[in-house]
Amino acid sequence: MAPDPQQLALFSAESTVAAFASVVVDIPARALSEPYAYGVPGEFADDIAIGSTVLVTFGHRAALGYVVALAETLGDLPGAEGLDPVRVRPVRALLAAPSCSPYAADIAFWLSREYVAPLAECLRLFLPPGGTPRLVRDADGAYRVERPAVAEVHERVLSLTDAGRTYEPPVRAHRQRQLLEALACGPVTTRELRALYTDLSATIRTLAQKGVVAVEERRAWRGVSGATTLSSASASVPEHLTDGQREALAAIAEAYARGQGDVVLIDGVTGSGKTEVYLAAIERVLADGRSACVLVPEISLTAQTVGRFRSRFGDAVAVFHSRLSAGERLDQWDMVRTGAARVVVGARSALFCPFRDLGLIVIDEEHEQSYKQGSSPRYHAREVAAEMARRGGFPLVLGSATPSAEALERCRAGTWAAQRWQRVEMRERPGGARLPRVVVADLRRAFAGGNRSMFSSVLERALLDVAARKEKAVLLHNRRGFAPFLMCRECGCVPTCRHCSTALTYHERTHTLECHTCGAVYHVRPYPAPGSACPQCGSRYLAKMGLGTQQVEDALRALLPPDVAVIRMDADSTKGKDGHQRLLEAFDAAESAVLLGTQMIAKGLDFPEVTLVGVINADYALKMPDFRAGERAFDLLEQVAGRAGRGERPGEVIIQTYLPEDPVIRAVATHDRAIFTEHDRAQRAEALYPPFVRLSNINVWARDEHAAEGHAAAIACDIRRLVAATAPVPLPAGDAGAPPSLAEGGDPRVAPVVLGPNPCVIARAKDRYRFHVVIKSPLGYHISDVIAAVLDARPAPQGVTVGVDIDAYDLM
Ligand code: ADP
Ligand code: ZN
Ligand code: ZN
Repeated sequence: MAPDPQQLALFSAESTVAAFASVVVDIPARALSEPYAYGVPGEFADDIAIGSTVLVTFGHRAALGYVVALAETLGDLPGAEGLDPVRVRPVRALLAAPSCSPYAADIAFWLSREYVAPLAECLRLFLPPGGTPRLVRDADGAYRVERPAVAEVHERVLSLTDAGRTYEPPVRAHRQRQLLEALACGPVTTRELRALYTDLSATIRTLAQKGVVAVEERRAWRGVSGATTLSSASASVPEHLTDGQREALAAIAEAYARGQGDVVLIDGVTGSGKTEVYLAAIERVLADGRSACVLVPEISLTAQTVGRFRSRFGDAVAVFHSRLSAGERLDQWDMVRTGAARVVVGARSALFCPFRDLGLIVIDEEHEQSYKQGSSPRYHAREVAAEMARRGGFPLVLGSATPSAEALERCRAGTWAAQRWQRVEMRERPGGARLPRVVVADLRRAFAGGNRSMFSSVLERALLDVAARKEKAVLLHNRRGFAPFLMCRECGCVPTCRHCSTALTYHERTHTLECHTCGAVYHVRPYPAPGSACPQCGSRYLAKMGLGTQQVEDALRALLPPDVAVIRMDADSTKGKDGHQRLLEAFDAAESAVLLGTQMIAKGLDFPEVTLVGVINADYALKMPDFRAGERAFDLLEQVAGRAGRGERPGEVIIQTYLPEDPVIRAVATHDRAIFTEHDRAQRAEALYPPFVRLSNINVWARDEHAAEGHAAAIACDIRRLVAATAPVPLPAGDAGAPPSLAEGGDPRVAPVVLGPNPCVIARAKDRYRFHVVIKSPLGYHISDVIAAVLDARPAPQGVTVGVDIDAYDLM
């Protein structure tokens, strides 16, 4: 029996200690990276288990903790050897029954060490969302346990008993007849009855007493129904698999049989049937009575994607995404824990569900940046999944049309960190559907030719043709990082936030400049509005740069006949719970339509009627200040191009750019990925970036600039000293001769190189000055241990915060 969390069965001094527990204390501090030993009083001994939530005394305060190991004697408790049993304090109360997977603690330890993150923070990933007790501190300083805010809901299910099937109600028992009629086709919930009939509760009671109706109370799962099915989300299983699909399935089956946690990368063009491979592989795992986890980028977790899994596996599918309510989230989680769901489809955090006998993890769009968590613990789902697969001995399947350089490099090596990595190519689309024709529209030439419109003549003509043929088009207007801003035509000044030193974004509708780091709003109006002035030189020519989606929408409406629906999809138009979904349904339902959107439209949409894809300006993506910009731009363009020609009719893709010679553009235009990947690989090898070395980032921020810089410098110095004392890693045989062409002083393939401290690109945010130390380290070197040792030995001064990002993606 789970104890009632509110009834604090407090340990009394007289009880005897019956066992010992290893407890992770829930105080997120770096220093607490180890569990602590506590005694288990006799009265809890029967109920306590690995995963239980307990109340303990830590120092002079009360704290929540999670049991990660149990033993009869202290000596058998890992890490507690040599402790004096007399000095071990007892667990004060048992607050909640186990809720996480049995392997959660092991993975949490690994996460904590690998990502230099507090142990409690890592373990919390595995806890039921909103469903654990919390410890709150009252005004008078006393601690109080608060019951989970999210509660389970139950529903009553009515069904006819065997005896009930032959029961004849009295002639005038009208309500009894109603109820029997409702139950004739199968069990019904009382909630469903209430929607159909006036109150039947007295009748239910009567018939239940007579043994005609059986009443069963069961857990209701919020978040299961209500998934609308779009027309193209079909349930059908293809009659024949393509050769590529068969090869991929064979590789997965072999990995499954080997049981060594192998990784299979499905490198398949968009529309080549990767999802179909996942479905078939999951079917086999389910047939073995095991469960499967499918990670999908948050952005493509649409009803369409989910619908494909539900139509194959029915109610056995739990879904996790950020738009679930707290109650839905808890219920989906519990569906997995209880075994009601054996397939989970979700964003990266779905990895931490309490799976029963996990037999397969699939990561779709493996290269997606959203698999890296942006806050502590800054884990990468691909790495965590690989570790889980290794420990669990089941396969990890990665899928992508544009695999990450990291995944490609590991498959090239064949083995990475004692794990087998294998790549399977799927070059063909089923049924021989052809790849779309790609046209590059050179904006330099268009401009020289006098075209001042945002559409080149090719794109304009193609859009009008789509309208004439009553087809559909998708237009990408990617402006990530290039939101409209103001610039002084006379002095070149760009207004920046007073607190953050980031360029302010101009909002047309409200005539305001807004900071997207801290939310500050400024009222500066652009030329030719009256009263506008440059904050630096006072010039009136403060002009707007960068197009908003809104402006492209206006231009489209002006260009196209009125019967063509123009649907704009961006952060503003998709606000609200189902905003995203509603717009997609409108696009699906329209006879002829253009879907205009930011990068959120590039992924996962499968509408066979789309025959044209346009990219307003590819250069925004190419010109990000980041060594992964090319990879991301290539992915974005490939993905959006893949929206065209998924049906019978061939598709066309038009990419507008000022940089037609860029390897990314050439690779997309010729369907020859090697043009890009070889260029990118050579560049990274030359500049010594991942996947050839590891790149980690330590951020230090504070209100006081000198305090931040000083602490960052001290950390950098400590790391340099510690690194100098460790042995270098030998270079792989083939690379030995390559001389490092580095101004950095050292070869990071051999020994870590510490760069900085330097001010971050965003040098100030929310009134804090930001500095960072970047570390490039060899692949076989455990840099996390070095960083952890340095941070433990040098606590941050008051007012200074340190954030560690191992294998960092965002260096801004
Ligand atoms: P991907 O995930 O690689 O983009 P999908 O699995 O979504 O590809 O497949 C693209 C389309 O092809 C879908 O409509 C799917 O139903 C269909 N499809 C997949 N495999 C087959 C097959 N073997 N035969 C016929 N159609 C298929
Ligand atoms: Zn100026
Ligand atoms: Zn700001």
